[in-house]
Amino acid sequence: MVQLGQETGALLDRLGVDRTLWTEGSMPSATPLTGERLGMVQVVDAAAIDNRLDAATAAFRVWRRVPAPRRGELVRLWGEELRAAKDDLARLVTIEAGKIPSEGAGEVQEMIDICDFAVGLSRQLYGLTIATERRGHRMMEVWHPLGVVGVISAFNFPVAVWAWNAALALVCGNSVLWKPSEKTPLTALAVQAVFGRAEARFGDAPEGLSQLLIGGRELGEALVDDRRVALVSATGSTRMGRSVAPRLAGRFARAILELGGNNGAIVAPSADLDLALRGVAFGAMGTAGQRCTTTRRLFLHDSIYDGFVAKLKAAYATVGVGNPLESEVLVGPLIDRAAYDAMQDALGAAAAVGGIVHGGERVGDGGSFYVKPALVEMPGQVGPVRDETFAPILYVMRYDDLDAVIDLHNDVAAGLSSAIFTTDVREAERFLVASDCGIANVNLGTSGAEIGGAFGGEKETGGGRESGSDSWRQYMRRATNTINYSNALPLAQGVLFEID
Ligand code: NAD
Repeated sequence: MVQLGQETGALLDRLGVDRTLWTEGSMPSATPLTGERLGMVQVVDAAAIDNRLDAATAAFRVWRRVPAPRRGELVRLWGEELRAAKDDLARLVTIEAGKIPSEGAGEVQEMIDICDFAVGLSRQLYGLTIATERRGHRMMEVWHPLGVVGVISAFNFPVAVWAWNAALALVCGNSVLWKPSEKTPLTALAVQAVFGRAEARFGDAPEGLSQLLIGGRELGEALVDDRRVALVSATGSTRMGRSVAPRLAGRFARAILELGGNNGAIVAPSADLDLALRGVAFGAMGTAGQRCTTTRRLFLHDSIYDGFVAKLKAAYATVGVGNPLESEVLVGPLIDRAAYDAMQDALGAAAAVGGIVHGGERVGDGGSFYVKPALVEMPGQVGPVRDETFAPILYVMRYDDLDAVIDLHNDVAAGLSSAIFTTDVREAERFLVASDCGIANVNLGTSGAEIGGAFGGEKETGGGRESGSDSWRQYMRRATNTINYSNALPLAQGVLFEID
């Protein structure tokens, strides 16, 4: 127990985090691996927010004038520093968020990948030249930096989500204020220190370009309500989004909302069942069911139901659950007691409406919350199946008609990720057209997106897109410019307005 605290201290020292920031504060930080307290973190008090916002605004005014490829150079250096610190950061993600080592490393790799993407982007912030209807005119659109970008992030991706946003925001010419989850402040301090090393090598980044706001939801609310913040990218529960969205709309601010998911996968009769089994197992049990893209609903065709459920039960019964630092396990802890209680409540509610529950028991005791992943055979999409419970519960249902099951799949409030396992190209295409999610996959599970695609979902998932593709446009302001290089003043649509 004591060793974990000591190891965390050594990691933070190596990563360059000022000790006072995490030992002399008022906010406790703990590891879900053992429940042990790791530090007392300094929080930003509400009175200091004003100064932080002023500094971010001043930094934006300088940074926006720096040529975009030069801004990309800062992100390139950041990527280099992340590569050098990858092992330490990955270990810290495992300690603070409970991810198994390969997932901790994967999260840091995601930061590196988005840095690479953003460096290339810094030379590709293209606008269009558009044909005009007026003789002697030229029309074009130009993308300008937007302003201060606020990032609010969730505990389950304690560092990658910030990088998805910050790497793009920075090459687009913006400053960034980041409010990480109160459950994962140490990784936030660590990656901010790594970013600071890149800034030092860069040389002339304005002060306040990237700032960290450690504390509770009130700091997130301050970002949401302040007119100096042009865009808020908020990742977390739909409950959080319900509070944030109308407030941002009330001041006409931009929003990227990345909220809860209730992701479904369909296994069709023609599926490669071994591949489907692995895809479903990772999607449902990976990260202990604590990914926004976790597979939570499984629709099995009648003809393969019994055999597939038998294989799944065997996989669930043998999967390693426990402290990923002590043994080679695939399922680490839930983040805290509240997560465990929510899981037990959902299992109770499922049983009450006819669900047959396999697994879900607590493993061990003390201050940490390990659970056996739960498989629940459901008579239909009722009760807790309709909502996201942020824990490893997979609800399994039967179907016999593809169109009907796609309708059922879409009949929940969230719309993040979806998948079908089939070797029938017609079924695959029908599913891709009909799934109402932001992500739809064929022959791979619902979780594990790459940074190159735009990430996000529809309906109560919030509608936001971040990371790859053209997500960068949200971090910029588009201006349409028309230039008249003729001696006449023709009006659009042939309007005449002659004055003497
Ligand atoms: P959470 O909503 O409890 O907290 C997320 C962040 O929002 C935290 O930093 C919190 O302090 C802040 N916050 C909470 N209420 C706020 C408010 N009213 N105003 C401003 N800020 C507020 O979520 P969590 O438990 O940390 O994370 C799990 C949830 O996040 C799940 O629902 C999961 O699906 C979702 N998630 C979504 C994505 C995605 O990309 N769609 C990614 C990761 C997690």
